[in-house]
Amino acid sequence: MAKRIYLSPPHMTGEEIKKVKEVFESNWISPAGPHLEEFEKVLSAWSGMPYTAALSSGTAAIHLALLILGIGKGDEVICSSFTFAGSCNPIRYVGATPVFIDSEEITWNIDPNLLEKAILDRRAKGHNPKAIIVVHLYGMPANMERISQIAADYEIPVIEDAAEALGSLYKGKKAGSLGDFGVYSFNGNKIITTSGGGSLQSRNEKWIQKAKFLATQARDVAPHYQHSEVGYNYRLSNVSAAIGLGQMMSLNEKVKQRRANFHHYENVLSPRGVTFQTEPSGSFSNRWLTCMILDPKQKSTPESIRLGLESNNIESRPLWKPMHLQPVYSGCPVYLQGVSDRLFDRGLCLPSGSALEEEELEKILAQLGKLLE
Ligand SMILES: *Cc1c(COP(=O)(O)O)cnc(C)c1O
Repeated sequence: MAKRIYLSPPHMTGEEIKKVKEVFESNWISPAGPHLEEFEKVLSAWSGMPYTAALSSGTAAIHLALLILGIGKGDEVICSSFTFAGSCNPIRYVGATPVFIDSEEITWNIDPNLLEKAILDRRAKGHNPKAIIVVHLYGMPANMERISQIAADYEIPVIEDAAEALGSLYKGKKAGSLGDFGVYSFNGNKIITTSGGGSLQSRNEKWIQKAKFLATQARDVAPHYQHSEVGYNYRLSNVSAAIGLGQMMSLNEKVKQRRANFHHYENVLSPRGVTFQTEPSGSFSNRWLTCMILDPKQKSTPESIRLGLESNNIESRPLWKPMHLQPVYSGCPVYLQGVSDRLFDRGLCLPSGSALEEEELEKILAQLGKLLE
């Protein structure tokens, strides 16, 4: 059997192991240490957000952002429906209720018109949404100009879930620096990885100090262990931070490679009636995953193609199943217009790793050529 081609595997360059060796030699094998601090500095310099907390996951970062905004039981939080559960599970951790909004056609992200309609409707029903979680799906920036304007008009803070969008730009600014809070993920399948990890960044120094406090069991300043608040064990380890430092050195190269994968797929498959997420002018996507959308007139389905690729040991995946279709979120308020349902129904994510080789890409495209009917 030929070597398996994965959807988005980790891509190490050799720099990571050098940094990890430094950690072992200095014995900073803990959730504190010089590499952790250095990684936070590198992330701040990258995003332009002056304060960053490196954490155990992107999900933990969203959880802390909600806690710092004082969101809790009885509150509502708006979130894009078309996303991964890590975006909205933290809403439930704090006892709040998610309100899901459908996508716009172009970017597949939260539709600003529907967002404003939803805010007005929630208000008319006696609720005042306490935060908006905006997602840049598959790395494609959401329409932040409109979303930020709406958020300002209704005075609702924005948590920018840029878990998939490290390296993407919106009107010249980095994804992850466009909200009140920004979130990155360094999970194994993301654009860079620390094996597992995430970050929370902001322009508000107090918020990030609070995030680090809550992430280390909320220890009050005292020689004994004293706690006036419930804390969490959410800090990134110094070992993981060292991997992250090595990975950040090749971020630009990784984005270039993912974009090249996308253009290759697009050039070959567009003439076959397949469509892709479009990049509006002013936006630059890291093209974390290339996802193709089949035309309803085509005989093949995403599942028939997925199985065909699988039989050649090539991994592909359906698009994220929208949150309003998830059993765990049934009954939550939702504002729909059919976009995410259709994308989920007709879409397939293709192997998109930054270490994908030319021959592998040719092999995938040859199979797709046979499978597309
Ligand atoms: C991966 C991901 C997360 C969660 O990040 P983890 O580091 O895996 O907890 C959140 N939102 C989106 C959109 C993601 O893709």
